[in-house]
Amino acid sequence: DKTEMGWNLDNSYASLPDKFYTSMNLNAVSSPKLAILNHPLADTLGLDAEALESEDGVAMLAGNRIPEGGKPIAEAYAGHQFGHLTMLGDGRALLLGEQLTPHGDRFDIQLKGSGRTPYSRGGDGRAALGPMLREYIISEAMHALGIPTTRSLAVVSTGETIRREAGFLPGAVLTRVAASHLRVGTFQYAAGAGSIDDVQALADYALDRHFPDIDTTDPDRYLKLFQEVAKRQASLIAKWQLVGFIHGVMNTDNMAISGETIDYGPCAFMDVYNPKTVFSSIDAQGRYAYNNQPLIGGWNLARFVETLLPLLHDDPEEAVKIAQAQLTIYTEQFHTNWHAGMRAKLGLFTEEAEDEALVDELLKIMHKQEADYTNTFVALTFGQLKGGKLFEAPEFLDWHERWQERLKHQHHSKEEVLQLMKNSNPAAIPRNHRVEAALDAGVKGDYTVLERLLAALSNPYAHTPEQAEYAAPPESDNGFYQTFC
Ligand code: AMP
Ligand code: MG
Ligand code: MG
Repeated sequence: DKTEMGWNLDNSYASLPDKFYTSMNLNAVSSPKLAILNHPLADTLGLDAEALESEDGVAMLAGNRIPEGGKPIAEAYAGHQFGHLTMLGDGRALLLGEQLTPHGDRFDIQLKGSGRTPYSRGGDGRAALGPMLREYIISEAMHALGIPTTRSLAVVSTGETIRREAGFLPGAVLTRVAASHLRVGTFQYAAGAGSIDDVQALADYALDRHFPDIDTTDPDRYLKLFQEVAKRQASLIAKWQLVGFIHGVMNTDNMAISGETIDYGPCAFMDVYNPKTVFSSIDAQGRYAYNNQPLIGGWNLARFVETLLPLLHDDPEEAVKIAQAQLTIYTEQFHTNWHAGMRAKLGLFTEEAEDEALVDELLKIMHKQEADYTNTFVALTFGQLKGGKLFEAPEFLDWHERWQERLKHQHHSKEEVLQLMKNSNPAAIPRNHRVEAALDAGVKGDYTVLERLLAALSNPYAHTPEQAEYAAPPESDNGFYQTFC
């Protein structure tokens, strides 16, 4: 039953075998203060935002008090980090429980930065205020862009300082809301630390939680589980590519079974279009570069399906064949989704054989002319082809003529094309220099810059005059913007 604050927590994850988690006590912080609270999300969850702002509420968001019905646990998982398999787990996070919402949905309520756990390895279990505000901004921007993602309910500063390479930083706790925290890495943990029975228990749990349409007695249910997870990733990663989002650490522990974007560390949106863009300071090889993301998605799915092989077929060779066929389907689905999205970005309702070449050609010219990714598509949307060397390049003018010809092949009005393009090309993305400015002010206690930024990002397809301010690329883009975990 709901509490006064609106908590309605269940703890279904704890029904998995013991090895999947560790029950935890809270690690209280000295002086929690609310930095930001997501009122619309609180409403969606059935939580009383005003009550969350009270001393009691903030104590819960800081990990100083357990909300009624909560049973804090740290989840165990493994993961390939930059290609190397490691035993991991929530090293600085606690799952309080699963909030059952008024609409009948179930969401994990997780505190990130909540202190050490048995999975902390060398870490302090804490998080800095800047990066937690960053996760808040980017995850909420992704949500507004229509991209499946974990959400951010609140950030609380702890009143404590933590030690990082950059020096001593203010600490914070983020409340992350997720369809679940099941990861590819959770399956790798089950396969590595347990037996096939553990993998099966986890697969049944994932089916029940995320794919209730798949019959629990269907002999093909584990194949269908993989198909659905792969389908969601093919859709998710296409959406990332279409808005120029770079996750930064697509380790298998950072790929959610639910199909949500998860773990906002060194992620960023690209300004100038360059398929090789990498922002993360720790990704020297470019493993998680922009144009590598679809491939890495497939690599991660291969690690996932490996854990399921004994459930796919009694004959190991047959199981591998089934898995390989599914991975090929993932690649095809990604391409289908991406091309459909690209056609929409160019106002194309129909599909023609030459469309792929039309898209490829534009991207090639954008790359060569160092065009801003987001703004190029906005300029095409509104036919404002002024300023910037792209629009003066003869090859662009040729391309533009071809595109205009192509648009005439479909029987849609200019108004319809404009509407499709407006809905497919965001005006406002969280540009790095704007995010940094909001974080700098926030860390100093001024949240007005952050709140204005969040407002501009909350309706990215509106194309309002207020958003134009946020469309400007950085003044000097030296191409060396770096993000840190
Ligand atoms: P990530 O790179 O964010 O995906 O995290 C990889 C692993 O490191 C996860 O198991 C995290 O829980 C853990 N981790 C990250 N930061 C810390 C920290 N400050 N203290 C303890 N564990 C951490
Ligand atoms: Mg992670
Ligand atoms: Mg992280």
